[in-house]
Amino acid sequence: MPSKIYVVPVWPVKHEYLKFVQRAIHRAFGLESVIKNRGIHADEAHDAFRDQYLASSILIKLNSLPPPKDAVKIIGITNADIFEPVFEYLFGEAQLDGLCVIVSAFRLHNRLYGLPEDKDFLFDRLYKEVVHELGHAFSLIHCFAPMCVMNPSTYIEQIDSKSREFCTSCQRELDLALAQYRQS
Ligand SMILES: [Zn+2]
Ligand SMILES: [Zn+2]
Repeated sequence: MPSKIYVVPVWPVKHEYLKFVQRAIHRAFGLESVIKNRGIHADEAHDAFRDQYLASSILIKLNSLPPPKDAVKIIGITNADIFEPVFEYLFGEAQLDGLCVIVSAFRLHNRLYGLPEDKDFLFDRLYKEVVHELGHAFSLIHCFAPMCVMNPSTYIEQIDSKSREFCTSCQRELDLALAQYRQS
């Protein structure tokens, strides 16, 4: 019976981020998580022309490895600068109801926006992105309630202005999706 979310490093990434993501998962979804190194390097998805990393190619790699039997979802975490051809950059990528998602911390750092580095901001943004992308994996679509974590974010300011929580309606849908995995 699937019961755990697997946190998979997509190198390079700091171990500290992976540990933080585990805490975020526990708080937002009430599920156990495990860090599992599957030897995935963002380099395999490097685009020499853009000097960035193709998110969909990382997702294909994550999906291509046989999933652990107890995996509810698999989340790749990286500090590489991910993109898709139509986007300048991405904070993360997921498929609706998919098994695997990817989140990058690269664009979540203050220093990218000419501000002094601030770990509290970084981790707050990472929390919201992890919950948002896993929300998609649990079938949630974008929500236009301004404070809902499922509100879409193209710019860092949009991450900062929404809350870490699901709105009542998204939370209800999420609880339905999670019911089968939670211990009764
Ligand atoms: Zn989204
Ligand atoms: Zn919502």
